[in-house]
Amino acid sequence: MQSKNWIGGEWVTPAGREVVVQNPSQLSEEVGVVRLSDTSHVRQAEQAARQAFSHWAGMTGAARGEVLYRIAAALEKAAGEVAELASREMGKPIGEMRGEVTRGVNLLRYYAAEGVRSVGSVIPSAEPDVLQYTRRVPLGVVAVITPWNFPVAIPIWKIAPALICGNTVIWKPAENASLTAVRVAEIFAEAQLPPGVLNLVIGKGSEIGQALVEEIQPDAVSFTGSTATGRQIAAACAARNIKYQTEMGGKNAAVVLRDADLEKTVPLVLSGAFRSAGQKCTATSRIIVEREVCESFAELLRKAVAACKAGPALDPGAYLGPVASHAQYSKVSEYAAMAEREADLVAQGVLLTSPDEGYYVKPMVVSGVTEDHALVQEEVFGPLAVLLPADGFDHAVTLCNRTVYGLSASLFTRDLSRAHRFLDLAQAGMVRVNQETAGVEYQAPFGGMKLSSSHTREQGQAALDFYSAVKTCAIKHTL
Ligand code: NAD
Repeated sequence: MQSKNWIGGEWVTPAGREVVVQNPSQLSEEVGVVRLSDTSHVRQAEQAARQAFSHWAGMTGAARGEVLYRIAAALEKAAGEVAELASREMGKPIGEMRGEVTRGVNLLRYYAAEGVRSVGSVIPSAEPDVLQYTRRVPLGVVAVITPWNFPVAIPIWKIAPALICGNTVIWKPAENASLTAVRVAEIFAEAQLPPGVLNLVIGKGSEIGQALVEEIQPDAVSFTGSTATGRQIAAACAARNIKYQTEMGGKNAAVVLRDADLEKTVPLVLSGAFRSAGQKCTATSRIIVEREVCESFAELLRKAVAACKAGPALDPGAYLGPVASHAQYSKVSEYAAMAEREADLVAQGVLLTSPDEGYYVKPMVVSGVTEDHALVQEEVFGPLAVLLPADGFDHAVTLCNRTVYGLSASLFTRDLSRAHRFLDLAQAGMVRVNQETAGVEYQAPFGGMKLSSSHTREQGQAALDFYSAVKTCAIKHTL
């Protein structure tokens, strides 16, 4: 497979540098070739998106919804094939990847239905004979910049609400999710999305991503990725008064209280920490356990992690796959080496395959480091979690909040009043009780506090707020 851009309804192969995509599960396998664009493609995409805007925005919401329903049906039909391609491109286990594609289908249907829902309210006027009301109008051309870790769901949770609101889109996926992005765009094309309504430009973040934010004039930018990049994008957008949304990193905690059902808690903590090889923004990377039960919890964790197998993404026996890329492998391996040097090993999983075949990292839980240690404070984005003992509920909450991030947090308990206290006190955009830190449903708002987010929200109804502007209208019908 070879990557290509989709601009103004035409498929074009950029003449730029070629990057061979190796399967992170099996490095000897070539998945395809990515052809990098230059900034002229960004300008072409902007022009195509501008041209397509008035027709698309002028269609009724119901008609736009029909197009999204067709895309949902086409994606559902191609689900197996899309999931397999993504698994081969970025290493997410096939079972999880199928679930992600299903989430994409559900998101498309959810936003398709928004085409016929109300878009404003009537506000009584203080003057006679005045009808005062609000409506929502599209913003124009939206630039969508996405990461590799959810190569199908994240792009769709941005593109679908943007489209139903009447915007046109320029999408720049992460370099190592480009082949999956091309297949997703093909599905949009097969479903007869009008030309120019969605434009795909494949390329490097530092060139194509930056050009989207700094060279052209989009009406909004929606970004998901690292906090470092997100802050740069936010600064550039603020300087140009472009509406923006940045969803960024996390250092999420699962807090286990002494009254929790430990046997049932362990698999949920494990899933939060190691599914997707820990490469979810909402992954559990700190496990905070009340001291009284810390040893017994660690013992249960040891057994469960020892049975946790890292293997090829297409092997149904693999609990987690490899990490996604060479860059990810280098970064995560450095943290794993740091953990071996500076922390105590609590639990470690096994590899199903030879470590040289792909970017495999054994899942690992460590302890014995202070609250300020890099392993406790920095986002590893890999299958490595730190266990921290807490002296009671208040201390557990303090530890949970002791991070610059604020994406998700979980509490495991049978104490209803502590559950409510935690829901009040945890400084995170998504707070859950007796559920893992990852897995917020598509119809609910998704986003973080502190350095995890621009304080906007995605998914659910919240996304519609971002992709539209409120217009306050008033008409005096008798002069
Ligand atoms: P990244 O910041 O390196 O890249 C994200 C996207 O931004 C990619 O498309 C990349 O090409 C582009 N980009 C890079 N530099 C750019 C620049 N200067 N200007 C414009 N665009 C640029 O992040 P990543 O490594 O792809 O993703 C991992 C990170 O994403 C983690 O920190 C993770 O926590 C975060 N993430 C957050 C959420 C969330 O919803 N909060 C969801 C998934 C991932």
